[in-house]
Amino acid sequence: MKLSWSAIWNYKCPRCKEGDMYKKPFELSDPLKMHRRCEKCNLDFEPEPGFYFGALIISYGISSWMLLLPALALVLYFDWEVMSAMVFTLFFAAITYLKILRISRSIYLHLSMRYDKSLENSPNSASKYDKGIF
Ligand SMILES: [Zn+2]
Repeated sequence: MKLSWSAIWNYKCPRCKEGDMYKKPFELSDPLKMHRRCEKCNLDFEPEPGFYFGALIISYGISSWMLLLPALALVLYFDWEVMSAMVFTLFFAAITYLKILRISRSIYLHLSMRYDKSLENSPNSASKYDKGIF
């Protein structure tokens, strides 16, 4: 299985890579406001209730390593004080929070659904991958 990192990064539909997962414009009060289905290929973005609970573990994995490694590097390699490294880490966590929150769902959906090459020329055609692999 080959993941399209540009589609994941830009929150595109995993099946057609054209439709947006999240509604635009972005609202800070509801950063996870998603389309129910893909606007291009009609893929169901929430195949079952609570589907995105699995994205929690992806979010946890990304944020823990992304925060732990710079903190360790600052303390052990650059000889920062632990409190200074902690403040930097909290600041870094705050500015990356929304991106990680949204991209975790995107990664999870891309891991669950397949890209359908037959949609390249006819994005509105029905597909046997309507329900993904679940
Ligand atoms: Zn789509």
